[in-house]
Parts: sequence; C-alpha cells; structure tokens
Amino acid sequence: MTLNFETDYLIKELKERKPKKVLVQLPEGVKQNAFDIAKIFQDLDIEAVFSGETCWGACSVGLEEAKAIEADLIVHFGHAEFIKVDFPVLYVEVRDELDLKPWLEKSLEKLKDYNTIGLSYSIQHRHDIPNVIKFYEDNGKKVILSDKKGNVAYEGHIVGCQYSGLKAIEDKVDCFVILGNNFHSMGAAMSVEKPVFLIDVYNDKITDMAGVRDKILKQRIISIEKLKDAKNVGVITETKIGQKFGVHELILKKLRKAGKNAILITMDELSTDKLMNFYYVDCFIELACPRIAIDDFAKYSKPIVTFKEALVALGEKSWDDILRMGIV
Ligand code: SF4
Repeated sequence: MTLNFETDYLIKELKERKPKKVLVQLPEGVKQNAFDIAKIFQDLDIEAVFSGETCWGACSVGLEEAKAIEADLIVHFGHAEFIKVDFPVLYVEVRDELDLKPWLEKSLEKLKDYNTIGLSYSIQHRHDIPNVIKFYEDNGKKVILSDKKGNVAYEGHIVGCQYSGLKAIEDKVDCFVILGNNFHSMGAAMSVEKPVFLIDVYNDKITDMAGVRDKILKQRIISIEKLKDAKNVGVITETKIGQKFGVHELILKKLRKAGKNAILITMDELSTDKLMNFYYVDCFIELACPRIAIDDFAKYSKPIVTFKEALVALGEKSWDDILRMGIV
C-alpha cells in the first residue's frame, strides 16, 4: 500500500477549525500508522486520542467516545462521509497512490467478451478513476460508473451495504468491475446478476466472482427457513450511530403477530461470545450492518437473518422481491 494521508488537507482543516482535542478514528488496516498520524497532531499542538474501537466503515462514527473524552472534533480516516451527525467530523479519505496500470492490463483478458463495463471503486482509488476510465476507453470499452444512491458519497463509490447504485445501471452494462476488495465484490456479486470482476491490488488478483452469488443465496434461504420455524427470536439493534435504521419496533410487532416470542437486544458490536449467552434464542434478526448476518454466518452457532430476509420469513415480501431489490 502506498497510502497518502492527505496531510496538506488535514493540516489546512485543523488550522482553520482549531480543535484542542480530537478523537482519531482509523480503519483496522490503518491503525498500524497511528504513530505517523499522531505526529501531525503533535506538531500542531493538538491533543489526539486514538479510538481503539473497531472502525469497519463510515457508519462507525465515534460520537459517544468523542463526548466521553471531551473532544471537540472527530477526525475519521479512510472513509467518506456516510451519515450526517450532530458533531463536527473531519473525513480524511486517504488515497492509495499505487500505479494501477499493471492490474488494469491484467484485467483485459477477463473482460475480453464484455464491451460496456459498470465500474465501482472503494474510496482509496477515487483520485485515479479518470485514468481508469481512460485506460478502458483506450482499449475499446465503454465505462459507466455506478449511480450515487443511498449513503455512497460519489458516483461510482462503493460501500458494503449499498448496491442500489449498481442495480440502477445493471441493464446498461455487460459486466461490473469492482476496484476494491473481496468484501465489496462479494456484496456486488450477491446484488446483481451480471458478471462481477474484482481487481484486488492488495492480493494481486483479478477475480471472477461467478458462483459466489448462488452459493450465498442458497445459504440465505436456509437461514430464512430457520426463522420461519423459530419460536424464540432475538432482534438485535446496534448502538453505532450509522447503523440505527429504526425498524426494530416494526419487526417486533410483525414477529409477535406471527405468534413468535421476540425480545429486543442492543449491543455496540456483535460477537459470538455475546450471542452465545442468549441460550434460548432460536434465531436472531440483525438490524445493523447487513453484512454481519450474510458474511459471518459460519461464525455463529445460531442463524442470523437481515431485516429484508425477516420480511421474507414473515411472508411480507417474496424472495423474488428481495432479489430484485438486492439482498444486501
Ligand atoms: S453498515 Fe456495514 S457495510 Fe455499511 S458501511 Fe457500515 S460496516 Fe460497511
């Protein structure tokens, strides 16, 4: 990785905003750079406290931590703004300044049968997207960026829980190229029916995601069946500000109407240890990050379904409706 922490932008913003104390949030892969980043704040005589909590996505805004340490600014690295919060937050998106050309060249062989590419990228590659588009156009392809829908910050930008921007262009493209990681491309493969290719520069791989969709969808149907049979259901809401989707009352009402015992559980982050103690729960419905239920299902001993999947189990939506909407 050749990460650029956008130091000039950061220093300019800090000089303008003049915070005394900041809470610094770093994604998991960037926490190793904490000492380099700390120096920027030290040089400006700003007290920086690094959050030790997980920061998987821009939905994790450390509002409560910031208040607890009496910070006057949150500096959130590695993600673009996802939600508006009532607290000053400075987003530093972090660029990866790798030369992408070798991977783009390698991708051409996999893309040889496709003329129009739907392109989505993780935020670290945003600065390079005009070059990526030019590269494919110079090689005879047409490129369409995924739409800016939901919480994504830019046209083409991808986040792990929002694929409606890809679905919006699906009819116009022959395949999708995801410039990002396996997490993003798995979500895309689950959500769209056109072929999906991942350009993963960190693992030096161009991956055809064929087969992923069928495998995951089959597993999801099994979990939905488990909720249909469940007597005792635990509905989990997370306390992270960006993962509060406000649907727990609705789902509790529907579960009770369907004759199930339902309890509401709140936690800051799911873990196997925490769920294990809810011994008599037959199935969980997870209303926070939908990717936990889908990607991490093998970690948990009890089935976990998403909000959309719960609606299928309760007969409120058909499986085809969910496929049309996108399962994430
Ligand atoms: S809710 Fe999940 S997928 Fe969406 S931004 Fe947060 S961690 Fe990523």
